[in-house]
Amino acid sequence: LDNVLIIGAGAAGSVVAKKCAMNRDVFKKIHLASRRIESCKKVQAECKTPIEISQLDADNVADTVALLNKVKPDLVINMALPYQDLAIMDACLEAGVNYMDTANYEPRDEAKFTYKYQWPYNDKFKAKGLMAVLGCGFDPGVTNIFCAYAQENLYDEIHTIDIIDCNAGSHGKAFATNFNPEINLREVTQRGKYWKNGEWIEIDPLSISTMIDYPEVGPVKSYLIYHEEEESLVENIKGLKEIRFWMTFSDNYIKHLEVLQNVGMTRIDPVMHKGTPIIPMEFLKSVLPEPSSLAENYTGKTSIGVVLKGEKKGKKKRYMIWNVCDHAETNKEVGAQAVSYTTGVPAVTGAIMMFKGIWKGKGVFNVEQLPPEPFLEELAEQGLPWQVKEIEKADQKKLFAVET
Ligand code: NDP
Repeated sequence: LDNVLIIGAGAAGSVVAKKCAMNRDVFKKIHLASRRIESCKKVQAECKTPIEISQLDADNVADTVALLNKVKPDLVINMALPYQDLAIMDACLEAGVNYMDTANYEPRDEAKFTYKYQWPYNDKFKAKGLMAVLGCGFDPGVTNIFCAYAQENLYDEIHTIDIIDCNAGSHGKAFATNFNPEINLREVTQRGKYWKNGEWIEIDPLSISTMIDYPEVGPVKSYLIYHEEEESLVENIKGLKEIRFWMTFSDNYIKHLEVLQNVGMTRIDPVMHKGTPIIPMEFLKSVLPEPSSLAENYTGKTSIGVVLKGEKKGKKKRYMIWNVCDHAETNKEVGAQAVSYTTGVPAVTGAIMMFKGIWKGKGVFNVEQLPPEPFLEELAEQGLPWQVKEIEKADQKKLFAVET
């Protein structure tokens, strides 16, 4: 296996293409396809080694199949939007190609964040002898793999997982999202949810917050939101009693979001404008900065990880596993901000695992079901080093201040 096709030349997709082009020992052939050929050309010019490009509307299964039959890749890395997931999976099945993505399928007209559309593809991929790897970015992705690593090496049983995601960077814009605005705003404006003792507990959007002391960043206000990896981790981590996901948003971000929501700009249902139906959220995306344009002058760090509680040999154990990534450094390396970098580099690392035969299988997999250690070793080599630390009981209190 040595031939990869990347679909989507956006903020994260461009990192995938550039990183693949820096690993020619593994990726002998690299092809990048996207809706607009200009996006591909821009990335092609910035790659350190030659890559091929094509224009492709991945919503069109027949067009994607035709490209797959021409390029004959061993793997498609889907870096387009979650709306394209099922169409690209269908094309992969038809052309006999393995599949990977970094975000679950989303219907355009409802925000769901669930694997219920993609998990049923398991039988189809199995029947064709193909592998589909879901959610191989940072979160979902590396955070799931941190949990799998902990389950394998640190615990007999993991009881609680808190995924903690901080972007302490500053891009200098009044308001912008760090990845695709539609998906980002859908994620934040939906009702929150966490899982406890076998039940999903729903909360009003952003109604629970706490101060979390992030490594190399310090205490930042963090909000409980629902994130898709909770659904698969509940299935795959044995003995789990609770899982929550926390993300930081600045007061400024929340202020803008509130106004946009109050005036109806985050709606995802069509409204009539001068006789034409438009979706306010899609229009909003058109006026906001593109996430790929934020890299220049972005300063500060992302600090993302998991805090775990559980038991080893009858003793209670607490651990934290995390990565810190610097916006200015990733911009220097591949011309991208850290949110795109921490999404793209794990996808490339997962692809390396597949091409080296370390991640193998037939069917649909979430990343925590695949060997974690070789992935984490390679991840550090590829630019995302990680750390693990045991937390004393007293320090746990400092890490998580009282919830408000
Ligand atoms: P961008 O909006 O920057 O990029 C998306 C790209 O997809 C665009 O460049 C666009 O191409 C392309 N695209 C859109 N529709 C089509 C289509 N029909 N056919 C072909 N290409 C299409 O978003 P990001 O790079 O920030 O996000 C990419 C993916 O990564 C998303 O699914 C996002 O949810 C996911 N993500 C995952 C994270 C994780 O940690 N797991 C974190 C952040 C993002 P063009 O430019 O040619 O118009």
